[in-house]
Amino acid sequence: MAHCIVPEAEEILEKEFKVLDKGFVRLVDYLGSDDRIVQAARVSYGDGTQTVTKDEALIDYLMRQQHTSPFEQVVFTFHLKMPIFIARQWVRHRMGRINEISGRLSVMKEEFYVPDIKNIDPQKKDKLERALEPLEPEEAEKIQKEFVKGQKKSYEAYKSLIESGLAREIARINLPLSLYTEFYWQMDLNNLFHFLKLRLDTHAQLEMREYAKTILNIVRKVCPVATASFENVMLKSVSFNGEEIVALRKVLSGETNPLSGKKLDRFLTKVKNGLQL
Ligand SMILES: Cc1cc2nc3c(=O)[nH]c(=O)nc-3n(C[C@H](O)[C@H](O)[C@H](O)COP(=O)(O)OP(=O)(O)OC[C@H]3O[C@@H](n4cnc5c(N)ncnc54)[C@H](O)[C@@H]3O)c2cc1C
Repeated sequence: MAHCIVPEAEEILEKEFKVLDKGFVRLVDYLGSDDRIVQAARVSYGDGTQTVTKDEALIDYLMRQQHTSPFEQVVFTFHLKMPIFIARQWVRHRMGRINEISGRLSVMKEEFYVPDIKNIDPQKKDKLERALEPLEPEEAEKIQKEFVKGQKKSYEAYKSLIESGLAREIARINLPLSLYTEFYWQMDLNNLFHFLKLRLDTHAQLEMREYAKTILNIVRKVCPVATASFENVMLKSVSFNGEEIVALRKVLSGETNPLSGKKLDRFLTKVKNGLQL
């Protein structure tokens, strides 16, 4: 079968989906669809596919078996605009191919991320994440103003260094992490699902999760069957270790849970989170 065209995906090509205050995700192009996953799988299974007649069942089977290579046959190219502190996390996903705007060749625009007041949160004690209890709005507003003031000051200094004839690559070095950057990002569907599993998780930074949610919605348009399977098999699943499986068996047969302390807390959190999804 030749080139895959998905009408729902064609409709959103080149559309900018707004993320945060000034960022976006834009699908530039896609190669393949649910059909391509099925074609690729049938090649690798050869005669063995004769019994697998339904494409959806085949895709779900591949997902459950972690037979990942057919998913690698589908490729996405996105145009992304995001603050540099999110781009720093993004580039850790090594399987993507990137082409980013150059601060050596171009003058960076005065575009900074300013978090919404409701997202200016205090630090959670002894934890990586933000606390659930928000700051008082007046306090958050004061901090927001400080962010804007710092951004303006650093951009003015940058602009005057550029105007004085300083090289762009050195004039930029004091610009903050909240500055927006843009890049093209190409990723295959298998690695994209892995990215989404990590970056849609509540442990990922809130701003990163906003981008991941938008990417998920775009991927759903191109590969609805594979995405539904991913959501069910990977995204909404929780895994239990050996001790936890024993505990589950005991609880299900009416016996006392053998876990205690932190192990019990972790187990209960997993069960709770699994049920919430
Ligand atoms: C919530 C969260 C917090 C994080 N905090 C930190 C932090 O504090 N500090 C920090 O440094 N990082 C942090 N990271 C980044 C994290 O450690 C990973 O680098 C990132 O999530 C990319 O994961 P990955 O390597 O699985 O993905 P990718 O780089 O996209 O790779 C996908 C898969 O390809 C395979 N692969 C890729 N490259 C190789 C290789 N060289 N050798 C073998 N197999 C390979 C692996 O199977 C890998 O899972 C954090 C990530 C998350 C989600």
